[in-house]
Amino acid sequence: MNESFRAGDPALSDSRILLGAAALLAVAVFLIDALTPLDIAIAVLYVVVVLLVALTGSRRATLAVAVVCAVLTVIGFLLSKGAHMGGGSLARCVFSLLAIGITSLLAVRNLASNARLREQVQMLDMTHDAIVVYDLNDIITFWNHGAEEVYGWTAAQAIGQPMHSLTQTRFPIPPERIHEELLRNGRWDGELERVRRDGARVVISSRWALWRDGAGKPVAIIATNNDITERQRAEAALAQSEAFLAEAQQLSKTGSIAMRLPEGAMTWSDEAYSIFGYGRDVQPSAERVIERTHPEDLALVQAAREQARAGVPQIDVAHRLLLPDGTVKHVHLVARRTVAAAGRYEYVGALMDVTDTTLTQQALQRTLSELAHVMRVTTLGELAASIAHEVTQPIAAIVTCGDSALRWLNRPQPEVGEATESIRQMIRDARRSSEIIRQIRSMAQKRDPSYAEMDLNALVDESLALVRRELQDHHVEAELRLGEPPALICGDRIQLQQVLINLLMNAVQAMDSVGGRRCLRVATRAADERHVRVEVRDSGKGIAPEDAGRLFNAFFTTKADGMGMGLSICRSIIEAHGGRIWAESPPEGGALLQVLLPLHEPDDGDAAGVAGGNTKGASHEQ
Ligand code: ADP
Repeated sequence: MNESFRAGDPALSDSRILLGAAALLAVAVFLIDALTPLDIAIAVLYVVVVLLVALTGSRRATLAVAVVCAVLTVIGFLLSKGAHMGGGSLARCVFSLLAIGITSLLAVRNLASNARLREQVQMLDMTHDAIVVYDLNDIITFWNHGAEEVYGWTAAQAIGQPMHSLTQTRFPIPPERIHEELLRNGRWDGELERVRRDGARVVISSRWALWRDGAGKPVAIIATNNDITERQRAEAALAQSEAFLAEAQQLSKTGSIAMRLPEGAMTWSDEAYSIFGYGRDVQPSAERVIERTHPEDLALVQAAREQARAGVPQIDVAHRLLLPDGTVKHVHLVARRTVAAAGRYEYVGALMDVTDTTLTQQALQRTLSELAHVMRVTTLGELAASIAHEVTQPIAAIVTCGDSALRWLNRPQPEVGEATESIRQMIRDARRSSEIIRQIRSMAQKRDPSYAEMDLNALVDESLALVRRELQDHHVEAELRLGEPPALICGDRIQLQQVLINLLMNAVQAMDSVGGRRCLRVATRAADERHVRVEVRDSGKGIAPEDAGRLFNAFFTTKADGMGMGLSICRSIIEAHGGRIWAESPPEGGALLQVLLPLHEPDDGDAAGVAGGNTKGASHEQ
């Protein structure tokens, strides 16, 4: 098909040759016809002239030459009329004119249909698809520009070649089956592997149609092809990265969640479905999340939902899920807002199943609490003398005041006013000793941490009171500087008191081995607008540089009878309160132990969350 267009569409130089040959032939025919006495219809040969000009593809030239040939035929007839006049000559002239006319008409019609076909072929050439036609013997008869680009061979190189050997086609199924389907349905489509002219292997998406002639006999296959190598590669890469992501999500138990607002449409990754315990047929929605939320944590999730509706930049919520089979999961969702268009935004986030971590942390918390209790009881043993003093001192005062009250009353003229004052003092002392006993009892008790707001200055003061006797016994001068205004913190009073007593006792012991003045300076001061600091400074032996890095390690001790658990427990307690504890060696000597604690913010649920173990704050930054 294409070859015929290429033959009927000669280059400019070919056209000139054709026109030259046609002109020569026309002149020769005219001379022979007009000047020779030959008694034959020589003018019929003008049809060859017309056909030669038609080969140039020009309709106008063909018609013009046809007219010229007809005129030459008539002139030739007239010139030869004198010599060879007769009925035969006229008949030959008419016959020649008829032949020229019919041939010209057919040539012009042929040219018109060729032009139409040529336009269609040009359109096929314009498409990016590679269009190839090959006959049933696999020989290529048409090869468009797209095919040249996809396979690398030009039309001239490809036409006449066997299609499948030229491109080394690899079929997905046996070619016979493809042919059967083609004969049955008239079409086939599938993916083939082929080799380009430059040796590169390409994947082709191919659609074949069977072309039948007027009698319905199959004559050729028209194939439309697209190179999908890159697309396939990209799809494979995408599939691989999706598989990686799914694998990583499964391993880390982290699902992805997206929510578009204001409409609230949600998207979950496979792992998110699995965390919520839903099948893939379920449509993700906030209601579905609520359905799975633990009833006790509904408020947390609803609050996060409200935050999303309000468009806060980041949402961070930890809560529990209660699955239909009774399983409880701890999850932590962190999501960021991305703005899609004015008034519309999307949250994209990670939903982490932190059940294992949370349970481990809770177990750790329990162990820490038990260990802290053991240490408290041990400390109480060490503080026995101080405690006895703290309790007996007010009791002795009560006795003294009782005596005085009796004396005031037993006077001949009882001094009721003085006696009342003595009794008031007795009540104050009794309250003080009962408060001390209450503190000692709570320190000795085994209990779960309970977080409450408290004044840090009062806590430091009380802790110092408990070790006052120790300080006296070890000849330690204590100086207390409490920052103003008093700092409010949120924490477990007993645990924090344990930390302070531990630091104070360590300071006392560190000063035991040194001579000279023993100074203990305790201070509270604001660290920044969100934190407060407690400093415990002593004039003891200080911290050796090689010990500095392991002071807070469990079982590290430099004391003969030490256990090495005190500072380690202090660190766990302070970290659980969202704070930090560290030791320094000040240039003036001794040691400086510092505790940094977050100030209490009324809406801050962090510290309480640690105690409850069911909200965020399972891992606190220091
Ligand atoms: P223990 O008191 O049983 O040794 P701690 O954990 O309380 O356990 O202390 C660990 C170690 O830290 C102590 O043995 C001591 O070497 C060092 N240390 C603690 N406080 C001080 C201090 N104020 N000055 C010097 N060293 C200290």
